[in-house]
Amino acid sequence: MHVLVLGAGVTGVTTAWYLTQAGFRVTVVDRQAEPACETSFANGGQISISHPEPWSNPATPGLILRWLGRDDAPLKFRPGRDPLQWRWGARFLFECLPARSRRNTAAIAALAVWSAHCLRVLRGQTGLEYDQLERGILHLFHDAREFAHAPARVRALRAFGIEAQVCSKAECLAIEPALAAQADTLAGALFAPADESGDAQRFTRALAHAASAAGAQMHWGLELDALSTRADGGVTGAEGRDANGERIRLEADACVICLGSYGPRLLAPLGIALPIYPVKGYSVTLPVIVPERAPSVSLTDESRRIVCSRLGERLRVAGTAELNGFDTRIRSERIAPIVAWARAHFPGALDLDHAEGWAGLRPATPGNIPLIGRSTRPNLWLNTGHGTLGWTLACGSAAALAQLMRGETPPVAFPFLQPA
Ligand SMILES: Cc1cc2nc3c(=O)[nH]c(=O)nc-3n(C[C@H](O)[C@H](O)[C@H](O)COP(=O)(O)OP(=O)(O)OC[C@H]3O[C@@H](n4cnc5c(N)ncnc54)[C@H](O)[C@@H]3O)c2cc1C
Repeated sequence: MHVLVLGAGVTGVTTAWYLTQAGFRVTVVDRQAEPACETSFANGGQISISHPEPWSNPATPGLILRWLGRDDAPLKFRPGRDPLQWRWGARFLFECLPARSRRNTAAIAALAVWSAHCLRVLRGQTGLEYDQLERGILHLFHDAREFAHAPARVRALRAFGIEAQVCSKAECLAIEPALAAQADTLAGALFAPADESGDAQRFTRALAHAASAAGAQMHWGLELDALSTRADGGVTGAEGRDANGERIRLEADACVICLGSYGPRLLAPLGIALPIYPVKGYSVTLPVIVPERAPSVSLTDESRRIVCSRLGERLRVAGTAELNGFDTRIRSERIAPIVAWARAHFPGALDLDHAEGWAGLRPATPGNIPLIGRSTRPNLWLNTGHGTLGWTLACGSAAALAQLMRGETPPVAFPFLQPA
């Protein structure tokens, strides 16, 4: 069976890999000239199994109100005229209800645990190199009241089969000595030793190379604007324009949508409304000049909602979430707090004059639950909407989709799409 995988971010490329391994003939299509040029370009780098709680949780509405009007707000809503934004916002509030949030957390945790397993197996098979570190993630608390909730979080994670422990300040410093400069303000941490980090862009490009070697075709520079359909509603392929404006039509037996925040645009004419909206985030990549002063354990600052990962001789620092449509401009007032965080926490370690800023659009569903499985059209499949955890969940989502497309049941307690 010939499958078109539409989109070559981390989700599309992992999908192509697992489909190729499952015996499908695969063509990957993207408007860019190479893989991982959009949201998978410079994310936080965390394989964060220990953070299954979605942003849509009971505490978030209060935090959004508290941060209203602050330019450095970790979560920011810039209201626009787009009705999709308002509809998504209303569904987000619904997903903040305690029962919804608990259900979503459990589903994400199950998929994350499976995904980490799939990533380890994949690494063993392929020997991919992407600045990966298997040193865990430290979730840092600078606020004693927030730290007081850490034992309950550890118990909840263990119930999902995720390793975690509460760490005192001294234990944090033993795990990551580069935290010395923030020791005065640190209350403690939650440590998840099985978490990992690495460069999602390097991973995606290396895996695309491996998928090509395994037989996947790559079609670059094609801006898709339509899916072609047959009388029974099934899809027959995808079409769009190349860089010369020439109209190109690709045929296939099935299509998988992995188009990040842009999937809803392609599916709307078929009457399929994907509940995905872009949630913008920023990152800064800084050269490390004094290696022992920069962390190599990946960190999550729970109070500031900022994460950082060591990528070889660079430190990637990422954060902020902004509901602001499809605007990908890099705003200096949103980058500045991230650079200031890096400067304050790792003084002298980083070359701040060569900070590279970036902004990307997380393809988010209101509950952060990705859409994986068959759509309402018989041979149109979805693997998209991974929001804050696309890199963490990529391998498990793609492996599961390949199983679903072969008529098998993935071994994960997750609400895969199975329309009647
Ligand atoms: C600041 C920030 C930090 C993050 N940190 C982490 C982290 O630490 N850990 C984690 O797990 N996740 C993280 N994420 C989330 C993660 O990066 C995303 O979930 C993931 O990259 C989404 O991948 P994707 O393949 O679905 O989308 P994308 O990477 O956006 O890929 C979609 C592809 O579709 C193509 N495309 C779109 N429209 C068309 C069209 N019309 N025609 C042709 N091609 C098209 C694009 O060119 C693109 O290549 C972070 C995100 C941000 C923004």
